[in-house]
Amino acid sequence: MDNIEYPSWMEINAQNLRNNYLILNELVQNKEYKIIGVVKSNAYGHGVEAIKVLAECGLSSFAVGSVQEGVKLRKSGIKGEVIVLEGIMPEEIEALFFYELTPVVSSCEELELLRENSEKLPLGFYLFIDTGMGRMGFLPLELEAEPFKERFFGLLPQLKGIMTHFACAETDPEYTRAQLHLFIETCHKMERIYGQPLKRYCANSAAFLTLPEARLDGARIGIALFGVSPTTDYSQVEELGLKPVMNIRTRVTHLKELPPGYRISYGATFTTWRTTKVAIAHIGYYWGLPRNLSNKLEVILKGKRVPVLGTITMEQVVIDVTEVEGVQKGDVVTVMGEDGGEMVRPEELAERSATIPHEILCNFGKIECRKVI
Ligand code: PLP
Repeated sequence: MDNIEYPSWMEINAQNLRNNYLILNELVQNKEYKIIGVVKSNAYGHGVEAIKVLAECGLSSFAVGSVQEGVKLRKSGIKGEVIVLEGIMPEEIEALFFYELTPVVSSCEELELLRENSEKLPLGFYLFIDTGMGRMGFLPLELEAEPFKERFFGLLPQLKGIMTHFACAETDPEYTRAQLHLFIETCHKMERIYGQPLKRYCANSAAFLTLPEARLDGARIGIALFGVSPTTDYSQVEELGLKPVMNIRTRVTHLKELPPGYRISYGATFTTWRTTKVAIAHIGYYWGLPRNLSNKLEVILKGKRVPVLGTITMEQVVIDVTEVEGVQKGDVVTVMGEDGGEMVRPEELAERSATIPHEILCNFGKIECRKVI
């Protein structure tokens, strides 16, 4: 009674994840090179199951958004470096030390917090600088000002590296190069002032793949580890052999036949033009399927692409199965992933939904039932 199967589930393709990790490593061919797996937002929706697979492959540095997420990783048994990217609140400092998380510092308040607790900082910290993203990090000029210098100087031995983040590595190489040059120049300045070489980490997936000069000492790679392109154009990730890791599947719960001229779903946005066999499947926007894909989505049933008709609802979609032989209640519907040689990629859903692949993956993270395959 307690092992009822979920009507919708996520599959994590461990083989593809391992393959992606190996390919990204081979691109750098340097044992010293540090790939930081960006696994924030529950590993872009893939869950801790995917992080465990990466850890088994040998990935030993992970970046999360918050202390809470870092604690969750530790409680799941993840060892190695767990970097907290997006800031530390004073009330989180105890947990940060207790769970041996590594902070990224973006402000003098955070530096002060570390300074007050410097004896408990065995794992060190990273410094984040803002070279044109306008989000986290010190502006380069702030690094030359007294409030920074007086707090930073005593912490220098614990500094593990300097980071910045690109605003448009996916779309604007010129802007990205300008950010990169400012970053390198700022790092040189710091090296001159403090007389110590610094490790530099700036590339995300897009910069790592398209701007090799941005690879420096290591990269923070998220989406490419999951085999997905940072943009809707996936030609490069496909050429490299990176493969999507997340499949989203659901089941047919009802089947029926509708006459021509019959309207379907909320808003009655689709009208049948022939006798139409429809299957109802248990997935909707509650589970992360964007509602704006209504009348634009195709799913795979028995290895065949078929359209979803009308508005996507909270937990259900209506699929046209007129052209598919022998559909039965309980049949598996592939919303994202491969089935019988057909494939729906996250980039395709992102393009149709006018968003980026990151958002598609993160949204499906609401599906709690995950199976590692
Ligand atoms: N670094 C930072 C600071 C980020 O916020 C992110 C993701 O949003 C990444 C790296 C990884 O980006 P991507 O998934 O495009 O590789």
